[in-house]
This record gives sequence, C-alpha cells and structure tokens, in this order.
Amino acid sequence: MKIAWFCIPAHGHTNPTLGLIKAMTERGHEIWYFSFEQFREKIEKAGAIFISCDGYDFEMEDKENADRVGKDMAFAVELLVSSTLALDEMVTEKIGEIQPDLIVSDSIAYWGKLAAMKHGIPYVSSTTTFAFNKESSKYMKHGALETINMLFSMPKVNKQIRRLQEKGYPIKNIFDIVQNDNDTNTIVYTSKYFQPCADTFSDRYHFIGTSIRPITTPYEKTAEKTIYISMGTVNNNEQFYRNCIEAFGNTEYQVIMSMVNSKEHFENVPKNISIYDFVDQMAVLNIADVFITHCGMNSVNEGLYFGVPLVLFPQTPEQGAVAKRTEELGAGVALKSIDSQEILKMVKMILDNENYKKSANTISDSFKASGGIPEAVAFLEGLI
Ligand code: UDP
Repeated sequence: MKIAWFCIPAHGHTNPTLGLIKAMTERGHEIWYFSFEQFREKIEKAGAIFISCDGYDFEMEDKENADRVGKDMAFAVELLVSSTLALDEMVTEKIGEIQPDLIVSDSIAYWGKLAAMKHGIPYVSSTTTFAFNKESSKYMKHGALETINMLFSMPKVNKQIRRLQEKGYPIKNIFDIVQNDNDTNTIVYTSKYFQPCADTFSDRYHFIGTSIRPITTPYEKTAEKTIYISMGTVNNNEQFYRNCIEAFGNTEYQVIMSMVNSKEHFENVPKNISIYDFVDQMAVLNIADVFITHCGMNSVNEGLYFGVPLVLFPQTPEQGAVAKRTEELGAGVALKSIDSQEILKMVKMILDNENYKKSANTISDSFKASGGIPEAVAFLEGLI
C-alpha cells in the first residue's frame, strides 16, 4: 500500500506516529511522510520516505506563531489556510507522482486532509490529542462549536476559503476543514477509557493507546521521591521553573527538569535539582513519583502509562481538556497558581495520598489493554 502521511512541525504530533510508521513500513507498505527538516532523521529512521515542507513560506514554522495557534483558533485557521496554499503546488506535484492509496494526516495538518479532498483520495485522521466532537470539546474552556461559530463570522476566513476554492479544493465552509465527524476514519493515540465522552464516537475511531519509546539513557534514582518537571517542547515559562527551584531546592526530593534552552536561564541550581534542555522522558518517568506537566497530550499519556500521578499546569484549551479529564479520573491535581508554596503543596498532596497513584495505574492498564499498533495496522490495511 502507498500512503502519503502529513504532520505539523511538532514533536508531540510526530512522535506518536513513529511506531505505526515503523510497523507499516516493516510490513512492506511505502510511506511518504510530508514534514519538516527538524524531524527528518526520526522519520527516516522509522522507515518512511521524507518529503520536506520547508522553504514554502510556511508560517507555522515560526515559533511565536506555533505558540499562538494553540490559543487562538481564528488565527490558527488563517495560518493553516495560508500554509495549505503555500504547499499546494509541491503537494499536488508529489501526490501526482506517488499516486497514494491513502492519505493519513495529523488532525490539525489540514493541508493533508485538504489534499485528500482535492485529489479524491481516502483520508484517515491521525489524532494525537483527544478526539474532539460536540461532546468532548465541552472539556475545553472555549468549546469548539463556539469557536467555529465565531470563525463563520470572520470575513478574513471566508476570503481564505475562496482562495482555497480557486485552487481546486472542493470545500464549502470552515466545517469541511476543521471538523471530523463520525464518518471520518480516525486513529487516536490514547485509550477509550481516558478519552472523554468515548461513547459518542463511532467505531471508525480507533483508540489504540499510547506508544512508549524504548529507554535509551537511564537515570539513576538518588532519592526516595523523584519529581519530574517539564513544560514540553514548545512552552518556555522561566518564572514557573524558577518557582519550582524555590519550592524544591535543598529538599529531600530528587528533581529533574526539562526546559527548552535551559542553559541560557539558570546557573548554580541546588544540588538536588538537575536541569536539562531535553531528557529521555521515558527513562525519567520510569523513576518518577510525580510529574509536573503542561498537559501536552503525549506527556500526560506517557506519564500515566508509567503510572505516575500528575500535577497539572495546562497552557492551552486543549491541554485544559487533558487536565480536566485527568482530574476527573483522579490521577492528578491542577495548580491554582504558580506560587512556589502552591507547587509544593500539590506535590505533597499527591505523594501523601496513594489514590492518585492507583488512578494513574488504572489509566495505565487501559493503555496496555488497548489494541496498540497492531490494531492501527489492521485498520489501515483493511481500508484498501
Ligand atoms: N519530550 C522528551 N524529552 C523532553 C521533553 C519532551 O522526550 O525533555 C517528548 C515527550 O516525551 C513527548 C513530546 O516530547 O513525547 C512532547 O509532547 P507533548 O504533547 O507532551 O507536548 P508539546 O511539546 O507538543 O507541547
């Protein structure tokens, strides 16, 4: 089978796909993975043919833009339409050469979905967040429907839609782009148990559980309790990390922090705290007792997979939904402020009450009981 696969330039959206890519290519399927230079190595390592989307006036690569996308849907749509148009010529040419049987596209790499529509190729959504429909989007502070209604009234967006139509994209409105319905074949990289409102999704949705990367750099556990702190690969909240250092410096805890460009920010941190630009997150979670997280879907899935309860500090509506669901299932608590006392209090609360750990283990069990990569492979193969 030939598959054209599309993703946005983000580790959090790329990583979950790699196990599936590897399994598919090992079974002899050919995958052309449209992504960005920064991700080439891991995509090629997984066995796919890398196609570079760099250098096409693709504004999502801009870090500030990428950050705003998560918080401002109107801006996101405008950006994504422009990005689709920037890539249009190259993608059209490549699709013509490859003649794929299937297009798999990240749920927010809309240019992939749009290419499927334009060229009349079956489409599968690869959803690395929760699946969002009318029901589950209520878990976000600004419901998706509310946002979409707002988008309808935006003349700017309508202008973008017309630009897409002129380039041969058969779309009528913004719904066609941003909405996945129960007829959309979808792979979701979490469990049905963790997915909010799971019963409202059709059986075209495959909740395959989370995929864990092998540990490559083990960390030594040097204290009875280990706290892991990460805001993911996009955010960088220096004040938050500073407050964490204040909360945990010179305590009995072992603290491991991952922070983008950390070296530029901190010197002489207390001995019990180690700061890295990037860690082997699987290795750290393997020894962690609490994970303070920005609630990126992958980090949360991975933390819970290892049965680590979470202190939740979401930054976007989508991360807010992840936090809300984690709290609802009893596997974490949300920070009310980033005051160092509050951070310490929440960590202690989790360590002092074993129910958080038990609930995390229950979610972990649900991941392990999911169909995993074999289910996704069978699903994709079954479509052709
Ligand atoms: N990650 C990692 N080491 C780090 C920080 C992050 O391996 O030091 C990985 C993490 O395991 C996860 C991804 O990067 O798979 C981050 O994705 P997530 O959805 O949690 O957050 P994002 O970075 O997209 O906001």
